[in-house]
Amino acid sequence: MASDISSSPAQYLRLRHGCHVWQQPGGWRMSNAGLVSGRGESLLIDTLYDLRLTRRMLDGFAPVTARAPVSTVVNTHGNGDHWFGNQLVGDAEIIAAQASLADMRAVQPRDMTRLLSAGTPAGQFARQIFGRFDFTGIRPALPGRTFTGDLTLDIGGVCVRLIDVGPAHTAGDTIVHVPDARVVYTGDIVFAGATPVVWHGPFDNWIAACELIFGLGVETIVPGHGPVTTQTMLHATRAYLEYVHDQASIRHARGMTPQEAAHDINLGRFASLAEHERLAVNVHTVYRELDPGLPPLDGPQLFGCMAELCPQISL
Ligand SMILES: [Zn+2]
Repeated sequence: MASDISSSPAQYLRLRHGCHVWQQPGGWRMSNAGLVSGRGESLLIDTLYDLRLTRRMLDGFAPVTARAPVSTVVNTHGNGDHWFGNQLVGDAEIIAAQASLADMRAVQPRDMTRLLSAGTPAGQFARQIFGRFDFTGIRPALPGRTFTGDLTLDIGGVCVRLIDVGPAHTAGDTIVHVPDARVVYTGDIVFAGATPVVWHGPFDNWIAACELIFGLGVETIVPGHGPVTTQTMLHATRAYLEYVHDQASIRHARGMTPQEAAHDINLGRFASLAEHERLAVNVHTVYRELDPGLPPLDGPQLFGCMAELCPQISL
């Protein structure tokens, strides 16, 4: 099941003022990691979805961490592709937003293994998008320190600000701002070249997060997925969110079910974004905003909705 994804292309990028990136090629759960290095210590931003990928990332950063070891890790949110590799960071202090810790406790590696073995459309879809990862040997290493709102760290003389802009993509979404470098690591508030997925919402909070990031005046945005980018990607993210919210709301008012609405929406200029099947999740989230009495769907149910929408899947 687990093909050798650890040989897939990935790239080490050095930005400025101690900021570095491990950039993976994108796609479902192929996330980026970041490193901010100061005098004698570094902050690692996220680990990766399995141990092989995380080891390779840590090796990629090794020329920097040899002189500035990782003292602190921040997990930007609770999706596994941003923390399943935590056990490999040794004694480093692991920090996350309070709400992210709850997400990590709720969905652990064993849940992915269970979904991957399910004989359902959701299981089949999950095998297509997650089957290349290897969840064996993962011991959940949860954050030992949490925060709400924001937290400022001194990493060997480099000022780093953690800001929880969630709930949006998930219940807690931390961005990592390095003011002197004019760099922000956004976690999954930005998907460069791929479809944003609104697991939690509300949409307005995500749009507000885009506005907050605009206000930081940064030059460089390191997204959770996809290539390093600029503030222009915030426009694209906000435009997608506004469009999908509008289109789903119109269909909710017409009495369509979420799945009918997802099939009916023409994504137009957003259709070329990768992983467009996430529309099924996003429409559900809009419907729950409009009708708070609507019961939330669990992970396997949401993957089932995406499988049904995704034309590449032969069920
Ligand atoms: Zn992610």
